[in-house]
Amino acid sequence: MYETLINEFLQTAEESGVRYNTDKLRDAAEFAAEMHHGQLRKSGEPYLIHPLEVGKILMSYGMDEACIIASLLHDVVEDTEVTKEDVAQRYSPEIAELVDGVTKLGRINYTSKEEQQVENLRKMLLAMAKDIRVIMIKLADRLHNMRTLEYQTEDKKRMKAIETLEVYAPLAHRLGIQNLKSELEDTALKYIDPIGYEEIVNDLEVFHENNERFTRIKKMITESLEREGIKATIESRIKHIYSIYRKMFKQNKEFDEIYDLYAFRIIVDKTTECYNVLGLMHDLFTAIPGRLKDYIATPKPNMYQSLHTTVSFEGYLFEIQVRTQEMHRIAELGIAAHWKYKTGRIGKDPLDEKLSWVRKLLEVQSDVNDADDFMKTFKIDLFADQVFVSTPKGDIITLHADSTVIDFAYAIHTQVGNKMIGAKINGRIVELTSRMQNGDVVEILTSDTSGGPSRDWLNLVKTNEAKAKIRQWFKKEKREENIQQGRADLDREMRRSLINVANVDEKELFAPILSRYGLETQDDLYAAIGYGAVSISKILPKLKVDYSRMIRKQTEPEQQVVRPVRKTTGGVVVDDIDNCLVRLAGCCVPVPGDEIVGFITRGNGVTVHQASCPHLKGIEPGRLVKVHWEEAENEYFNAALTLDALNRIDLMADISSALAQMHIMTRGLSMQQMPHGDVRVVLNIEVHSLSHLEIVAKRLRKLKDVLKVERS
Ligand code: MN
Repeated sequence: MYETLINEFLQTAEESGVRYNTDKLRDAAEFAAEMHHGQLRKSGEPYLIHPLEVGKILMSYGMDEACIIASLLHDVVEDTEVTKEDVAQRYSPEIAELVDGVTKLGRINYTSKEEQQVENLRKMLLAMAKDIRVIMIKLADRLHNMRTLEYQTEDKKRMKAIETLEVYAPLAHRLGIQNLKSELEDTALKYIDPIGYEEIVNDLEVFHENNERFTRIKKMITESLEREGIKATIESRIKHIYSIYRKMFKQNKEFDEIYDLYAFRIIVDKTTECYNVLGLMHDLFTAIPGRLKDYIATPKPNMYQSLHTTVSFEGYLFEIQVRTQEMHRIAELGIAAHWKYKTGRIGKDPLDEKLSWVRKLLEVQSDVNDADDFMKTFKIDLFADQVFVSTPKGDIITLHADSTVIDFAYAIHTQVGNKMIGAKINGRIVELTSRMQNGDVVEILTSDTSGGPSRDWLNLVKTNEAKAKIRQWFKKEKREENIQQGRADLDREMRRSLINVANVDEKELFAPILSRYGLETQDDLYAAIGYGAVSISKILPKLKVDYSRMIRKQTEPEQQVVRPVRKTTGGVVVDDIDNCLVRLAGCCVPVPGDEIVGFITRGNGVTVHQASCPHLKGIEPGRLVKVHWEEAENEYFNAALTLDALNRIDLMADISSALAQMHIMTRGLSMQQMPHGDVRVVLNIEVHSLSHLEIVAKRLRKLKDVLKVERS
């Protein structure tokens, strides 16, 4: 029973003009028959008819042997026990890849979408196919399914028809396979708008029967070419049903308002003859200005070449196309013409050269309509840097090829990314670092209690969009954490670069960085580092330069600030006595800020003590006088600090350098060994005020091995 079908198929192969290995085709057809045995199509026919018909369609486009064998097996992996590996072993890895490609394309779910989404879907199909032959098989598969669509349910008819119109016909168009495109469109229309379709079919029949003018025009053309001795084939053509339908719909026209319903096609041998014929036609009929298109000089992106002109005769408009045999072949077969050449039916063909010529042309001629699209179509790996994946609902997301599922989550919506806790690819839970393949269905698992993205994600994601969104989140949600993180990171890096902010004026050091990034406070800077908006490696060089300049300023003697005149006796105002000699007591050494009392000495003016000074005890109240501190910035006062520490070789060096860094003048210094191995250091220094003294004490307390610092 299959024998007849297979023989008929092989008969078609022999008549195709392509030299196929009949034994190999028979083997593949018999294998398909065996595997699909018992399966029936909706029409009740054996399933085998389907792959055989798909193969026949592809043979009519001159596709190569691998492609035909793959088409015979295109449903076995999906519908039977046969695996891709079986096909690779029995036939070849190449054929297995083709079958696998078609199987994968078949798994894409299609639901009607907005134009942009449909465009993404078409690109996804091309990206997944990797090999244009996979698309060819898919198109042939779809064409046969459309031809036999009547056996399906109403829902399925409509769905398949819309998908064909939106996805597959445009693909065929891009590949330049006009016949296939037109048949796909016409069969689809039949199911989408059966009434509109029937009307046009009827109108066309009536139009054809009543139009003897059409026959007359054809005769005029034939005779004029014969007179000039030009050998030509003349074809007359009626517009495809769908293109009439589209025109009526788009331009809101009635059937009889469409003037280019008819077109004549004149096919000649040589390119020069094309232009001769054009001249003849313009003599014969009236050319309509602005309707001449020279696609020979400027081919369409899909390699299409022809001369088009619209002329009128007795008030009736029609189009004439003129082209050579070679141009005609390419126009009819589109990209498939390439395989006709490769399968060796025609010996050496300049087509390859022409293809590269077209490519070059496209590169320089960027204003060619659709050129970009064509290039993407032809070089099918042009999508190598992109990956097309879909949501469970079928929305297609285009991402950088190395993207992880986190990128995907953020591409859907910022909130989806922020609440992400996991992901599934094709239903299986995967790691967040997982990459995706073309056609994968990716589902993001979210939770309202997820706690937000992790900082590591910044290193995992590939797209700038996702990075920006993650940073945004950290910026908003985690200011405190960012400040801490940023400060810790910056401190660590500064330590590595030997920058010690304690040695310089921190504000002065950071001011240029803050203003460069438009930040107000140092916390803002830490926060920005924390969420990744400011990178430490970018600010560190500047910090280093500024820091060493500031340190140099402090240590270079010639640059030292001129110290103010020291008035160790000044700064105190005796309330009731003018112009008296004032001295600060040596016993308690008061500094500004201390509560003070004046002691009137015999013949030596007023000595100023701390109010709490034990020496004042028992003094006659009459010899005490009220005094207060004068407010003056540049005054210095002696003060004493006692410092207890564990002794070590460089303890004194550390103390001196700390004092030097704070610009503290040391007046006296003594050191004494204490009983438990400690040392006591007494420092006599100059300070501005009590609070200044406190700052110095604090700084000294931070030194290593220092146990205690107190005023003496
Ligand atoms: Mn199929």
